[in-house]
Amino acid sequence: MQNEKEIDINDKSIKVHKKGIELIHDPILNKGSGFPDCERDALQIRGLVPPQVVSIDDQMNRIMENFHSKQTDIERYIHLESLHDRNETLYYRILVENVEELTPIIYTPVVGLACQKYGHIYRRSRGMYFSTSDRGNFEKMAQNWKNDDVQIIVVSDGSRILGLGDLGTNGMGIPIGKLSLYVACAGIHPKNTLPVLLDTGTNNIELQNDPLYMGEKHPRLQGDDFYEMVDEFIQSAIKRWPNVLIQFEDFTNDHAFKLLDKYRKNILCFNDDIQGTGSVALAGILASLRITNEKLSNQRIVFLGAGSAGVGIADSISAGMRDSEGVSLENARKQFWFLDSKGLVCNSRGDSLAEHKIPYACDDEYLETLLEVVKRVKPTILMGLSGQPGTFNEEVVREMAKHVEKPIIFALSNPTSKAECTAEQAYEWTDGKAIFASGSPFDPVEYNGKKLIPGQGNNMYIFPGVGLGAILSQAKYIPNSVFYIAAKKLADMVTDEELSHHRVYPDIKSIRTISTEIGSEVCRYMRDNNLAKNKLPSSRMYDFVKQKMFWPEYVNYIFKG
Ligand code: NAD
Repeated sequence: MQNEKEIDINDKSIKVHKKGIELIHDPILNKGSGFPDCERDALQIRGLVPPQVVSIDDQMNRIMENFHSKQTDIERYIHLESLHDRNETLYYRILVENVEELTPIIYTPVVGLACQKYGHIYRRSRGMYFSTSDRGNFEKMAQNWKNDDVQIIVVSDGSRILGLGDLGTNGMGIPIGKLSLYVACAGIHPKNTLPVLLDTGTNNIELQNDPLYMGEKHPRLQGDDFYEMVDEFIQSAIKRWPNVLIQFEDFTNDHAFKLLDKYRKNILCFNDDIQGTGSVALAGILASLRITNEKLSNQRIVFLGAGSAGVGIADSISAGMRDSEGVSLENARKQFWFLDSKGLVCNSRGDSLAEHKIPYACDDEYLETLLEVVKRVKPTILMGLSGQPGTFNEEVVREMAKHVEKPIIFALSNPTSKAECTAEQAYEWTDGKAIFASGSPFDPVEYNGKKLIPGQGNNMYIFPGVGLGAILSQAKYIPNSVFYIAAKKLADMVTDEELSHHRVYPDIKSIRTISTEIGSEVCRYMRDNNLAKNKLPSSRMYDFVKQKMFWPEYVNYIFKG
């Protein structure tokens, strides 16, 4: 929500230019039943809210009581988004205090369901839409957003929403949800965030025929038209907010890789589907190697699935081998074997490979199945990013376990029902030796009296901290090495006790501390590599970062007309 006029006096008080009903209707300033008596008198609120002054804790209890009484996830989503629209402080406080329970509602998987129904559950606009028919006017339109200090934009064209395909402008739920996580997990102030949906059309016929669909009803722009439209948006955004961080989200693969290649070194940007996923998976592997006591560059890694997530992860791991062990990228890539829906991705396959797969095409003879590849390669790590449940079957997993002491098995496809195997299967078929992680949560498993805890490679471990560091340092751009240092930090934060249960990610409840640590690492990197436009402290970076983070609480208002 935009609000440029409120001026911070200090941490606990701000000057406001609104009174009465206007103040109550401003979601950034509204306190609902929480306005104290003195403000009810000074700001002409008395009588406009019920008489009892309710503490923020009791307000949270009321919201959560209602939340728990809802029958469906979509009702829970609507309940939270309605709060988001009327009282942002309370919304973010609830999110911070209940991050584990609420993230699956405001983000994946429930946000996917919400996006599918977006036109039908729509209540109020949030963020900005730039559409095909607006081309040529983006720069002027950016002025319509009144906040001059937008620090982060999450932008999607809605073309590949989670695993749900083309949802057109209904995809707006994704930038909104992601930015909520930036606020809750990394303390970016909500007023500095801007969700954007680029409406380049939709190829989804059902949406085109839906009278309640709110985007433009024409096929998606292709080729140069598409890239020109994205570029017009990027140039307009940078002109309006020169230091803004732009996060690309849920673009189709072909566009995602090309956009990242085009902009990654010219502007402050990154792609979470590619780089964030890569970093979080790398973190899980680095933590796994703390259990097996092995070197990253000695791993033989087989990937099932060669889409943006798979290749993004391989890019991060190979950059990790380069940064930590000085291995050339060319040699690092020789440690990877990819399978896509047609089998082993190799140079002899005969079909023309998509551009992003080419660096990972191996020189080995073509094989069709995963089992054959596992038999030949004897992988130490098996990564699932295919969206195909059951593909890490008993034969495959037992074959892998024959050749390696502690098989590292990451079944990362979402949601849980799409995971290549379950946690229980991975432990069972390896006699409890597997180190298992997934994209969606699995419960701990008791195996032969030992508690094994599956890791969840959730991107929210990484992107909020990286974004926070990039914003605070006002980085010129984000080199790939940043995703390695973020992964390393995350892996180092897993305790020995957690590792003893084969758990490779820290408890998500400490997400603010994790983001602060990663943000500090990113700031140090930017400072030391002359990539920071902001002056950063030479020591006590953690304190610096922590002190800059927004904490959702009510502050005092002083009226200034
Ligand atoms: P994508 O559509 O770009 O790629 C899917 C890949 O799987 C393609 O290369 C396709 O050829 C391959 N594939 C399909 N069927 C196959 C089969 N039977 N055998 C072998 N390969 C097959 O999708 P993506 O964005 O790369 O995402 C893939 C999966 O990764 C999704 O399920 C997504 O939920 C998951 N993911 C997880 C995380 C995470 O855990 N943090 C992050 C991003 C994506």
